[in-house]
Amino acid sequence: MASIDTSIYKRPEELLQNLIRFDTTNPPGNELPLMQYIDSLLTAAGFDTAFIAKETNRPNLFTRLKGRGEAPPLLLYGHADVVTAANQKWTYPPFEGMIADGYVWGRGALDMKCGLAMMIAALLRAKAENFQPAGDIVFCAMCDEETGGACGAKFLVREHMDLFKDIKYAISEFGGYTMYIDGKKFYLIQVAEKHHCAVEITFHGPSGHGSIPVKNSAMYKMGKALVALNDKQLPVHISAVTERMIKLIASHISEPDSAYFKQLLDPSKTDAMLEIIREKTGNFFDPLLHNTVNAIMVKGGVNINVVPGKVTLYLDGRILPDFNDNDLRNELINVVGHDCDVKITNYEQARADADLSMFDMLSDILKEKEPDCIPIPIIISASTDARLLAKLGIQTYGYLPIDLPEGFDFMKSVHAADERIPVASMHSGADAIYRVLERYGQ
Ligand SMILES: [Zn+2]
Repeated sequence: MASIDTSIYKRPEELLQNLIRFDTTNPPGNELPLMQYIDSLLTAAGFDTAFIAKETNRPNLFTRLKGRGEAPPLLLYGHADVVTAANQKWTYPPFEGMIADGYVWGRGALDMKCGLAMMIAALLRAKAENFQPAGDIVFCAMCDEETGGACGAKFLVREHMDLFKDIKYAISEFGGYTMYIDGKKFYLIQVAEKHHCAVEITFHGPSGHGSIPVKNSAMYKMGKALVALNDKQLPVHISAVTERMIKLIASHISEPDSAYFKQLLDPSKTDAMLEIIREKTGNFFDPLLHNTVNAIMVKGGVNINVVPGKVTLYLDGRILPDFNDNDLRNELINVVGHDCDVKITNYEQARADADLSMFDMLSDILKEKEPDCIPIPIIISASTDARLLAKLGIQTYGYLPIDLPEGFDFMKSVHAADERIPVASMHSGADAIYRVLERYGQ
């Protein structure tokens, strides 16, 4: 590693390259060397830092930019671990942080070392320019997001609540990136996320000798249920955030797409409209308008010559913020029927409402930089550490401004081969985060 140069904030793409070069594939994560690098930058710039660790080689790093005491603290947090790049075909090696064709390439370029680099750049710039925000800015680089946060957010929220004292709002992933509809550029600002829920459906039927045909077996019932889940949608739900998002989109695009989007908000037409817009927008809107399940695993049968009397199907359920596990269970029973046991085995309830107080400010920052862009609030279909911070009453905004060219699908690039971010976007993103520090509490 080169000697510590805190002016690296002027080159956020280089900061990102350095972060990518630490292989923090989780598992095992091994985030310590990367955290030590961030620590060296922050301490060289004059920040006091602290490592809070459940496991020594997997610390979380905290620091604080002192504010003027005129607003409560604002949290900036991001995870330092990444998912595996194994068995993927990359154009450039995933942990070299190459710059080519105007992009920084590598695992974590989008999810979310780019965001960490933007936040660190904003903090270093604040120090360099002697800027004091209205409220303290608390920064936390967290480990272990990709496998649930046992060493990261979950551990911090359970055992170090005091570190988040008085914090109401936070900036983190999983939003701020661009999506184009009808040639219009939208920035998606995450304000809520779906709740994860594990479901087991058990089917019972006659067992018997593998040599004698058995009708209406547990396997057959499971097959019927899988077909029903494939062919039928769960009911349509239009939450307040999604309604605002869809109305904003509809008001900016041209006919006939505008009319299709407006009709998404009529539950009797939603599913038909989703089919129509799928061609242009893929499956993006479907999970924002339904609770969903995907069948993931099956357990049934032990010996090849014994027909099993019981088969269990394991499903990944995702519930909209204003619904709960009971709602999903009832919706599933309506599809698969009563001749089985539908059981919720794990449900992590997160925040039901979204506090949009900071949305206009975040949106204005993007519009000042790009007057033609349209920031919209979104619920994300996946879940992040935000669900854990929400337990402390913290509203996270997924706001890592990532300016992608039209045709570049953010969701398809995250966790995939050739993850990459435009170099120019690192500059505009770091600047946008810095403007958040300037505007917060004003
Ligand atoms: Zn992430």
